[in-house]
Amino acid sequence: MTDCPGCFAAEQNRLSGLIYADCLSCAARSLAKSHAYFDAVRSETITPAYRDVLQLIFGEQWRDGHAAAKAWSAKLAGVKA
Ligand SMILES: [Zn+2]
Repeated sequence: MTDCPGCFAAEQNRLSGLIYADCLSCAARSLAKSHAYFDAVRSETITPAYRDVLQLIFGEQWRDGHAAAKAWSAKLAGVKA
């Protein structure tokens, strides 16, 4: 499903910590494990700090980045997204 070895490893083993710097899906996975993401989930809103990080990584597609982070978060938690 992905050409990225880091994402492939994470699909096979959610405990994998492989992150590739040039892969946006890896960035989303890393973000899904960040304080900024958890703060946003806890407050049930896109916090300014979380949005800043999303925009820094994904630019105008930051909403897609958030969707990818949510999908990874669910996968990493063992929940079907
Ligand atoms: Zn990747």
